[in-house]
Amino acid sequence: MVTGRNGRRAGQAVVFILLTLVILIFFLLFIVDLHRIIQRKDQAQNAGDAAALAAARWQGATLNLIGELNLMHALALTAPDPAAVHAITSMQARLCFTGPLAGLLAAQVAAKNNRIYVNNNMTTLLEEHAATIRTEYAQLFEGGDMTFQEPWPGAWQEYADLINQIASDGIAAGPDNMRFYQFDSDHILLRKDFYQAVDGYGWCWFYWNAYGLLRTYSSYRDWPPLPEPTGEDYANSEIFGLSLVPFTTPIQRVFSAPQLADYAANAGFPELTAAALTASNAMDRLETWFFYNPSDWDEWSRMKPDGEDSFPVTGPVRHEYDVAGADAIVRVGATVDRMTPNIAGGAHTDSVTWSSAAKPFGYLETDTGKEPATAAAFFVLPAFRHVRLIPVDAASGAQYASADADWVRHIRGHLHAYLETGRLQSETCAYCRTLAFWDQNPVQQVAETVVGNDGTARREVINKPFRQIGIDWLEEFKENCRRYSSGGGRGGGTRRGH
Ligand SMILES: [Zn+2]
Repeated sequence: MVTGRNGRRAGQAVVFILLTLVILIFFLLFIVDLHRIIQRKDQAQNAGDAAALAAARWQGATLNLIGELNLMHALALTAPDPAAVHAITSMQARLCFTGPLAGLLAAQVAAKNNRIYVNNNMTTLLEEHAATIRTEYAQLFEGGDMTFQEPWPGAWQEYADLINQIASDGIAAGPDNMRFYQFDSDHILLRKDFYQAVDGYGWCWFYWNAYGLLRTYSSYRDWPPLPEPTGEDYANSEIFGLSLVPFTTPIQRVFSAPQLADYAANAGFPELTAAALTASNAMDRLETWFFYNPSDWDEWSRMKPDGEDSFPVTGPVRHEYDVAGADAIVRVGATVDRMTPNIAGGAHTDSVTWSSAAKPFGYLETDTGKEPATAAAFFVLPAFRHVRLIPVDAASGAQYASADADWVRHIRGHLHAYLETGRLQSETCAYCRTLAFWDQNPVQQVAETVVGNDGTARREVINKPFRQIGIDWLEEFKENCRRYSSGGGRGGGTRRGH
């Protein structure tokens, strides 16, 4: 009898020890998983930062080259050497594409060196884009016009070839601020934050961006038409573009011969003298020069409508760096296979996504001190000296989030058809589903404070159509909406602030 009791005790002890062991193993595996996820996230950050910096370095180097070529152009005019002038202008046009794409290639190398693997989704996306360039951009119409006018003969073919070549090794760092030619617009349906605001009940977003739309929208027919290709010059790569404009003008309209000679001397071109420029009539000739596009290369501080706090860069920006313009955002993804046995039956792989942005910085050295790179009447001069990481939200074109394959397919493949019929274009497209939700305006339950006849306030659950919830909420709380408060929204990749 005694042995029996002891045996049962021993049995209980074994069960207890086993149970403890199992829990301990689970716990250890969980710790290991956690550690691996954190480590992988670190790797993704490092890779993203390195890739963005690599791309921005190429942007800076290319801008310097185009600036030097502007001065060589002037120098060739003093010779005068028309063949050299033509070669220089043509090289500048090509550099606007090949420079940024070299940056794309460098970003891939940087990401892969930091142990980020090829992302098939991003690779397919760029391959699809190259195909679009070949078939649609280069499509010829009657009279010989192309959909998008080529910056030099055969440009679209060369551009598509380069993208294909980079994609053929696989894309690990997706370019996340591509500026597709036909989508550079303020149309609400082309703004990703609109969908985020609908999903996240981000009423403040509507207050700042589309208050009228929220209050008056009745059906898909209320949307303005999508922007058409404008037929302007397409001088910049869509990927990591430099936002430059080739502009044909006598250079004397921009500055005097001594001024130009001064800039040239500072940039290491002392041969370009005011006397030579005047003697050769170089200043009066109608020539094509490369300028910073003023609408993109604006003062950074002008992007702070509500003061310092509203802007993702905290603190004052130094005068010589106070200029927006070319920058690069890349997105990298990494996965971690979990070791913990999954009882719930969910995914056994965690994925980590990371976006980083970087920008070339520089300044002009003038008699008055350090001036922004654009200070010479937006004429491109070699000025860029280094690159830095910048907050993703402060980078240009961040809303296009073009490494998001679903988003790109949505704006390129679904929107036109939706605007014609108002119908849901794809069950699997989250953006289409958001649009359908917006259109259907389904009744939701909301808790509201109601004041009864006896003057006592109580909470009550009320049924209300989706958009009416927002209209009523803003009626009461709009004073609390701060500009740039995103007001919720689904994730879709981490955002980084530096
Ligand atoms: Zn869609």
